[in-house]
Amino acid sequence: MRKFECVDHELVIGGVKATEIVQKYGSPVYVTDENAIRANYRNIYQAFSKKMPTRINYACKANTNLAILRILEQEGSCIDAVSIGEIEACLRSGFSPDRILYTGVNVSDAELRAVVARGVPINIDSFSELERLAKITTDHQISFRVNPEVGSGHHDKVITGKRSTKFGIPKHQILEAYKRAVELGFKPAGLHAHIGSGGQTVEPFIEMVETLITIVQELAAMGIELNFLDIGGGIGIPYRPEESAMDLDKMAAEITSRIKSKTKIKEIIIEPGRYIIADSTIILTKVVDIKETPDKKYAGIDAGFNTLIRPAMYDSYHHVAVANKFDLPAEEVYSLGGPICETGDVMAKDRELPKVEEGDIIAIYDAGAYGFTMSSNYNMRPLPREVLVKDGEITLIRESETVEELFRHQRIPSRLML
Ligand SMILES: *Cc1c(COP(=O)(O)O)cnc(C)c1O
Repeated sequence: MRKFECVDHELVIGGVKATEIVQKYGSPVYVTDENAIRANYRNIYQAFSKKMPTRINYACKANTNLAILRILEQEGSCIDAVSIGEIEACLRSGFSPDRILYTGVNVSDAELRAVVARGVPINIDSFSELERLAKITTDHQISFRVNPEVGSGHHDKVITGKRSTKFGIPKHQILEAYKRAVELGFKPAGLHAHIGSGGQTVEPFIEMVETLITIVQELAAMGIELNFLDIGGGIGIPYRPEESAMDLDKMAAEITSRIKSKTKIKEIIIEPGRYIIADSTIILTKVVDIKETPDKKYAGIDAGFNTLIRPAMYDSYHHVAVANKFDLPAEEVYSLGGPICETGDVMAKDRELPKVEEGDIIAIYDAGAYGFTMSSNYNMRPLPREVLVKDGEITLIRESETVEELFRHQRIPSRLML
């Protein structure tokens, strides 16, 4: 959880007051601080690259706004992409195909052909995908995703590395996969595993790396030398005030010392999404309604799970503050309900806040990862704007939708118009 500046009782992000942003761009609005993205990227890059050659593959499913991708392109980041749409977003933002790694799951032939056509290396997830790719080409960089049978994450729905999940080649079949790839004419370049999203401790990463090292050694004994290890697993962030950040220096030291002493691996890839982007962005949302039920006080806001689905989907905690009463003491306990007609549309439960009134602006923290990218038109609500702030300047980076645009792909058959 970031600390924000306070000027005239107001939360300030990127040198701009919250109320000024809402006055100019409306509510709700996603506000992203450019300097925070750059600082996060540099932190994680430096932690690992001072130990061994490192590539940061930003897992862009967290946030694919083109302006944000441009910032990361300028920083020298590479990309982990999971769909052809994400690949296109990155190519448009200036990433060359060799800086992108495609890690799909349940990949169709059409998507495989599209990825091959764009020259983007592929992390293969199954034997089926390997055989289907071989029918398209064997002259393509591949690596394999193994299921490491180690899982970690902030919620069961995002733990990917357990034995029973749909992801990766089962551990006991991974050597067979490389053997088959070589037989088919591929030269596999690396090995990948991903334990889950939002893990906050180093131990599961170490356990996974030990598994990867064993596989690398077994492959070396078969005459297959790999160039890179792709150490997947989202790195968690402290969403709650009392949580602390992952110790990246410790993580880097524990991982790289093992790889350097036990393998000939030349480069590691780290693929954070949330770590780079989550705390760069807040949602500013207006209080539109106040309601007292017999046992709860609600402040009604104009952002719901159509704008940020994490609380409803994963029971996630997002810190909130009254942006225009930022330094006032807490007085009452409120739950913040959104405009979506479902009981689960509560963005924050039982929070101590200053007295909240209609017209106040609430800031929802850490909304940069899986905020806009998981937003929806549910309840026929147009998607809000995204703006970028930096050193006192605000720039629009995505226009809001209009209600009219919600109908652009629908067709009413003429026989229903009679
Ligand atoms: C989602 C994902 C990540 C990133 O997860 P975060 O928790 O956002 O860091 C990394 N690698 C792969 C393969 C993913 O699917």
